[in-house]
Amino acid sequence: MSELAAATSPELARSGGVLLVPVGSTEQHGPHLPLGTDTLVAEAVARRLAAGLPGAVVAPALPYGSSGEHAGFAGTVSIGQEALEAVVVELGRSASATFPAVVVVSGHGGNAAPLRRAVGRLVAEGRRARLVAPAFHGDAHAGRTETALLLALAPSLVRSEQVAAGVTTSLPELLPELRRSGVAAVSPNGVLGDPRGATAEEGHALLEAAVAGLAADLRAWLDGQEVAP
Ligand SMILES: [Zn+2]
Repeated sequence: MSELAAATSPELARSGGVLLVPVGSTEQHGPHLPLGTDTLVAEAVARRLAAGLPGAVVAPALPYGSSGEHAGFAGTVSIGQEALEAVVVELGRSASATFPAVVVVSGHGGNAAPLRRAVGRLVAEGRRARLVAPAFHGDAHAGRTETALLLALAPSLVRSEQVAAGVTTSLPELLPELRRSGVAAVSPNGVLGDPRGATAEEGHALLEAAVAGLAADLRAWLDGQEVAP
């Protein structure tokens, strides 16, 4: 595994490995987690996936995504769905000149639709591209799951004294209002879930489980045994 930004051009001309592109967001994650939470998670997943793939290269993360639902909270910076889709299409086209396959690793649920469209477009153009989105099966946003992940990945960035419960209504129940009015309308502190009690150990386990599931799929796809995007 190597990092694109640290490699030299001749090294990459010989590598022949897959490129993994982490895509995150810059959006509020409650009073206790940093705005770059999703980017850190996407990078961590990409690096762990790359570690199991010979010759894989990890690109610098794209730290902006589609975060309109987090508008109204200071610090949220969103480039919107259209721009995100265009960036990933252009990046994939360009990267395909060097790499035989491009894997987009998403760290933010709100990026799902534009990333699916972008990867679909690249595939329709005859390029080998795939979208990978880790599923942690936890609460929705800045709750126990993401807090555990950050405690595992970047504990110094977690403001432990600010940890507080947000709205704990289930996501399916919240979704209609969330879609209409955004996170601020349903959770004044920006948290969907309850981060209290999260631990680094839990975060490491979540990460390992998510990566294990994705790694097998990715290897099969790279070996050409499975072609669905
Ligand atoms: Zn997040």
